[in-house]
Amino acid sequence: MKRPPRTSEEEIVKLQQDVRLLWESVEALLPEEFAALLKSYGDCGTLGEAMVWHDKVIEKIMATAEPREGASNRVRCPLCKGSSTSPYDDGFVYPGGLRRHLEGEANARECPIMRASRIRAVDYALDARAQEFRRHLPRVTADENKRRLARRKREGAT
Ligand SMILES: [Zn+2]
Repeated sequence: MKRPPRTSEEEIVKLQQDVRLLWESVEALLPEEFAALLKSYGDCGTLGEAMVWHDKVIEKIMATAEPREGASNRVRCPLCKGSSTSPYDDGFVYPGGLRRHLEGEANARECPIMRASRIRAVDYALDARAQEFRRHLPRVTADENKRRLARRKREGAT
């Protein structure tokens, strides 16, 4: 028997579960230190704080990728193990190439894990901002609500 199509709400719940599972999978594949770092966006309550968090995360990742003395100045991305698109080079030039990869600068091959982490932190910050805003909205009393509804009905704006 064919399953009835999901409602929009069911579809959203399913997608949220899928995203959560994917994040758990990504975090399971990362070294613990990086997984914890990418989950540390919980204090971001504004877009500005999310961007500061993003820059700090990149600095910490950059610090772990520093090439050993005497080694090549190219490194693979510590998060996604990515490399430049050039078939002749392995890794990104350190520090500029790796930084451009992590920041997703214009022509750089953007790090998919850092990109997803940035989006997650920004979404979280904007949600936190929206919740803070709602908390400070004046409460509408039941009487006030009745008056508003009556006024809308009178004015024909229902
Ligand atoms: Zn990467």
